Amino acid sequence: MASSNTPQGVDNTFRKKFDTEEYRERAREREKKEAERSKQSKGPPVQRAPLKHRDYHVDLESRLGKTQVVTPVAPLSQQAGYFCRVCDCVVKDSANYLDHINGKKHQRALGMSMRVERSSLEQVQERFEVLKKRKTPGTFSEQDLDERIRKQQEEEEEYKRQRREKKKEKKASFYICTRAPYVFFFF
Ligand SMILES: [Zn+2]
Repeated sequence: MASSNTPQGVDNTFRKKFDTEEYRERAREREKKEAERSKQSKGPPVQRAPLKHRDYHVDLESRLGKTQVVTPVAPLSQQAGYFCRVCDCVVKDSANYLDHINGKKHQRALGMSMRVERSSLEQVQERFEVLKKRKTPGTFSEQDLDERIRKQQEEEEEYKRQRREKKKEKKASFYICTRAPYVFFFF
């Protein structure tokens, strides 16, 4: 018989064969499900208030120089670093804490978006007036500035004078090392 003489192709590859069409179908279904799920979870877009400027003082220094015992099991608010009550997290230093409270995650927790309302000309002028009138302890006039410079120069002079005197004292004194067989003089 002819069929028995002609060599038949035998599948000797042991690799798994993939039915590409089946997998394509599965992928389509998965994408459909994911799209539906994201539609459900998104819901109506949340309207957040525009960004506002801070109206409170950020306390960065009150715990400066203080000693505190820290244990890893203590609540977050008693851990080392800056604790954010709003987000319930601890930030390790003041720079990062400022970044955090100015950041998106924190502002979102406060119900604000990162968008800023466009101010009108009147609002800007008003703000300038408020700032002009407000005399905070940090601000100073030109006279204050002159006074400050004069004081600083005086302080510098005094510091230099003290250093000169110390040097003189050092030169005048000497120490004798009596335990050695020779006597050393250190000037
Ligand atoms: Zn926060």
